[in-house]
Amino acid sequence: MLSFSQILGQEKAKRFLKQVMAREKMPHAYLFTGIAGVGKTSTAMALTMALNCDSSVEGDSCGKCPSCRKMISGNFPDFISVSRRPDKNNILIEQIKDLNRELRFAPVSARYRVCLIQQAEIMTVEAANSFLKTLEEPPPGNILILNTVEPRDLLPTIVSRCQRVSFSPLPFKDIADLLAKERNVDKETAEVLAKVSGGSPGRALKMSEGNFLEKRQEWLLSLVNLPGLSKEKAIDMAFEYAEKDKKKDTERSGSSETGVPAMLAVWESWYRDLLVVRAGGPAHLLINADFSQKLKKIAEKAIIKNLIDSVLAIDRAQQDLSRYRNKKLVMEYTVLRLKHLADAHGA
Ligand SMILES: [Zn+2]
Repeated sequence: MLSFSQILGQEKAKRFLKQVMAREKMPHAYLFTGIAGVGKTSTAMALTMALNCDSSVEGDSCGKCPSCRKMISGNFPDFISVSRRPDKNNILIEQIKDLNRELRFAPVSARYRVCLIQQAEIMTVEAANSFLKTLEEPPPGNILILNTVEPRDLLPTIVSRCQRVSFSPLPFKDIADLLAKERNVDKETAEVLAKVSGGSPGRALKMSEGNFLEKRQEWLLSLVNLPGLSKEKAIDMAFEYAEKDKKKDTERSGSSETGVPAMLAVWESWYRDLLVVRAGGPAHLLINADFSQKLKKIAEKAIIKNLIDSVLAIDRAQQDLSRYRNKKLVMEYTVLRLKHLADAHGA
């Protein structure tokens, strides 16, 4: 997926980038915002390829010239991607210093060098300040792109120096079609995955590969069974999930579709579904449509305020997890809170 035309959706972002490419003086810094897996990195690569293509057509790369071929084979020297090292939680100042050193030399072979910072919001304060200097006076021939989910987590001085390019979640139908085409997934499963992905084709594809569907079943059942558990058992469950996730963190980098963040997203979708059922909303609005009977049964007895509080508790957990290291504590608090709110239903 390296040319603009191969990226699913994001027509507005693509159109904007093609327009700025045609300008005599192209702005040098961009802030790509949007949920994970929505196409930010693919678009940064497509931009790199189009900018350096020898025979581009209507702003898109040809895919055949020497420059495009290098990009496709992963041997293009002027595309730099900076991301968190697997054993670290942040992008460190050393990494930005290395980058700044590299940028001082002219691009190796191409017209433009593109440098992409992945998850820019996890730069340390020192790293962000060092990067800010580069943003203020970038050496010529360099395009800087920052990827982020939430621009509010970045220094305002960084945000104000970048052209903002927003990436929107895709319609569920487009993602379901993609899954059916690329992964041969049956219609019902494709719809569930598309909805649970929150409009992210990247996440949906990843979820279709692993054992996400079985995990989701397990997570939803443990949530449904929560009111019947003793406090001790509930805490055990919270610890078990946090512990498994810690192991996964050290085993491999990158976001996993079967880790705690994915579980919390599934739990959140459950409470949203209960609210939809309680409000008498139509069945097609349900994310977990394959659980509609169970949802109906639980929603009948549910207290609306407690459902809303449950969504808020999960929101809070998601924020806490991205800020603090202590997963166990966050999970213990969250599971007990959800249990307390569900117990009140008498379910
Ligand atoms: Zn080309």
